[in-house]
Amino acid sequence: MDGDAALTPTQRRVLTELMGSRNDRPTFDRDLGLRLRDGLETALAPVADGLGDQQLFVSKQALAEVHSCERHHVSQAGTFSWSVATASGTVTHKAIELGATMRPPPAPEHLVDLALDRLASDLEWGPGSWLATADPVEVAELRGAALDRVLKFCDEFPPLKLSWRPRLESGLSTGLCADRIWLRGKVDLALGRPEGSTAGVLIVDFKTGRPSRSGADDLRFYALLETLRTGVPPFRVATWYLDSGQCHAEDVGEDLLASAARRVVDGARLLYQLRIEGREPLINPGPACSYCARRGDCEGAVVWAAERAAAGFDA
Ligand code: SF4
Repeated sequence: MDGDAALTPTQRRVLTELMGSRNDRPTFDRDLGLRLRDGLETALAPVADGLGDQQLFVSKQALAEVHSCERHHVSQAGTFSWSVATASGTVTHKAIELGATMRPPPAPEHLVDLALDRLASDLEWGPGSWLATADPVEVAELRGAALDRVLKFCDEFPPLKLSWRPRLESGLSTGLCADRIWLRGKVDLALGRPEGSTAGVLIVDFKTGRPSRSGADDLRFYALLETLRTGVPPFRVATWYLDSGQCHAEDVGEDLLASAARRVVDGARLLYQLRIEGREPLINPGPACSYCARRGDCEGAVVWAAERAAAGFDA
């Protein structure tokens, strides 16, 4: 593959730096997954006891929100709706999935159309019901946004081989404490498989726009879920920024997983207090103030704007 002159330098970087050599993959303790699970269940036992017959669902999004600002998290409940902005990632991932599995792979513009058709035919899940009534201009904008991402992916990533075991939009979940607490996530792309207790999976999240701190936390959460699933951690997790062709990658080790587990425990406790006990949410001014639904009536937004202005940024 190294001699494949058809690959762009960025595509070659994916092969050499991100995927790397199989000979460099770490081997982990066979009990690691069980130890992590035991630690999570012990720490979350009081939460599970308090839940009684109820369940607590802990997602990547909820963790990011509640660690960012509790009131922001509470204000987000039930506000999700499909739009060009929220559907473009789903269409993109479906198109990439079809490109990896159809033979011969269609051109990117056809992949996007096929992805739109497939998603529109499913009225139970995803953006199908929204697509059925969406304005044709919105659908055209969605097609354009997804095509932009698919074309960038094709420029930046080498063509996915089925031998790499690509998983697109791959759901990961685990039940803790007799299934009263569920951790759930969905990785954009996972490649490879473990061999014995030697790591072999690479997890990649695709993003547009500028890097953010929550990207690394999201990936660590996925690494934890993958470890709980197979008992073997991924060897590496990475956020890939499609607009720049740049990547932030972390090799996975026990310290990273322990940190991710602590963040899950802390976040689950906060979610339990807010959702089940009904505790008043605290505010924590920060970057979320810029797009928070409460920014018009929250003193935190004023504090954040003042901090930004003092640091020389526009409010
Ligand atoms: S405006 Fe800022 S401080 Fe207030 S709830 Fe939203 S994110 Fe939190």
